[in-house]
Amino acid sequence: MREGFARDELADMERTLSYSVYCNGCGFDLRHQTYVGRCPECNGEYNARPTSMKGILNVGELKLPFVDGFLAVICLGFGGMWLAANLNPVNDWLVMLASLVILLGLGLARRVWVDAHRFFRLRHVFTRIEHDDDA
Ligand SMILES: [Zn+2]
Repeated sequence: MREGFARDELADMERTLSYSVYCNGCGFDLRHQTYVGRCPECNGEYNARPTSMKGILNVGELKLPFVDGFLAVICLGFGGMWLAANLNPVNDWLVMLASLVILLGLGLARRVWVDAHRFFRLRHVFTRIEHDDDA
């Protein structure tokens, strides 16, 4: 797998573009240039490899959303405390701000829920891949 990838990378260093693509830095036509390299006009780095995978499980990206979870707890905790502290007597602006912080926390919590759910659903795939690596 990894060898194949390296071979593709190498081929892309030698293969040249048979069609026109344009540098997004200066608009130079990169036809006849290599697939991966630097623009001869502005020296900007480019990669014209048509590798756009979709719907493929990337094990490296399968992580529990710890940072989002942490932020959600902070937003909900502080937002809640802030809201409680400003309800009696009601301070309109601070109540509104606290509500926004709580809303943000709820948004984060929802994302954490979705990501965590996905993580546990895909974990068996994940452990199977690790097991295959050992064999
Ligand atoms: Zn350029």
